[in-house]
Amino acid sequence: MDHVRGLKCVLCGDEYSVGEVLYVCPKHGDEGILDVLYDYDLIATRLTKEGLAHNHDYSIWRYAPLLPIREETPRPPLHVGWTPVYQSQRLGEKLGLAHLYIKDDGRNPTASFKDRASAVGVVKAQELGYEIITCASTGNAASSLAGFAASVGLRSVIFVPERAPQAKVAQLLIFGARVIMVKGTYDQAFDLCLEAAKEYGWYSRNTAYNPYLSEGKKTASLEICEQLEWQAPDRIFVSVGDGCIMGGLWKGLRDLLALDFIERMPQLIGVQAEGSAPLVRAWEEGTEEIVPLIPETLADSIAVGKPRDRVKALRAVRETGGQYVAVTDEEILEAMRLLGREAAVFAEPAGAAGFAGLLKLAQQGQIDPDERIAVLVTGSGLKDVDSAIRAVGKPDLIEPTISALRRLM
Ligand SMILES: *Cc1c(COP(=O)(O)O)cnc(C)c1O
Repeated sequence: MDHVRGLKCVLCGDEYSVGEVLYVCPKHGDEGILDVLYDYDLIATRLTKEGLAHNHDYSIWRYAPLLPIREETPRPPLHVGWTPVYQSQRLGEKLGLAHLYIKDDGRNPTASFKDRASAVGVVKAQELGYEIITCASTGNAASSLAGFAASVGLRSVIFVPERAPQAKVAQLLIFGARVIMVKGTYDQAFDLCLEAAKEYGWYSRNTAYNPYLSEGKKTASLEICEQLEWQAPDRIFVSVGDGCIMGGLWKGLRDLLALDFIERMPQLIGVQAEGSAPLVRAWEEGTEEIVPLIPETLADSIAVGKPRDRVKALRAVRETGGQYVAVTDEEILEAMRLLGREAAVFAEPAGAAGFAGLLKLAQQGQIDPDERIAVLVTGSGLKDVDSAIRAVGKPDLIEPTISALRRLM
């Protein structure tokens, strides 16, 4: 790991060596999230555009020189990353946009963006010699961790809020996780999980706590830019709960700028559900302080009342000249329908929220028709079929006769 210079607290800026701290800044406790610092001069000798053009490993590991892992640690066998980017002509026309790109991260092995972080999480757990890894999650981080733990033979203990959708809980159980369902919100499950990890000595996969997971998330930015032949998009839209994806995307883009792989920083647009939008409020008020709330939205994966990665998530948007947008549950359902019907991408509500934000800004005339827009779809619709049915309604049911069909038609 000679390419990692250390870890830097996002609050006080103090730096630590990798061996010095495991998770957060000792001075700031759970709030003092650490950012991984790299030696870009060294990395530039190991990672080049030409090298990538000849690299046939189409997964996040093609960017290993930019990840905080040792070269010799085995990587999980599940295929993660290099998800498709579709240029969505029909969807673009509907919105009046000439260059619309949809990156479908529902195509990851456990069907969400979280696999990018879990993959790095289990590599770190193995490097550090842990046998049990834990996280709290509204569902996707949990099922993702359970899958990746199973793939390398680690045990996982997962804390989920009572209202996590059934498909996600089923995934956990299939992957053999020890599932602990908490009578409370995600935020309460998160706090309990941190306490449990300390008490039992388990490795914590919680993003916005474990500094390495964000590094897995940043691979989506690296991929978007490489898949668009190093012409960075003008704006990237993504849904935001804790803000770790947002922080990760920003990190990946800063890496690419530091390596001169792209020429300018895209604007990052964070989309939250109206009933769970503390970052939208903080952004509008120009503060980094959050007023925690009880989230109310059908988009369970972004139902977060106290965003853990708020500092990075707010800076990512401010420093790239982007913005935060709130969308209603109705707008999310409409985004699910449009994505399905015009682009054949099936998203869960949180997965479609980024697109709902684009839809909103486009309808308000805030997007130039020639802008190059990338939208991340962060999770598959199969994870939450109840919401999908809510978006589209139930099918017609008839007797198996042609006369019944005629009456219906
Ligand atoms: C976790 C998740 C998000 C939000 O990511 P954060 O890092 O919490 O902001 C968005 N969509 C889906 C499908 C997710 O699972």
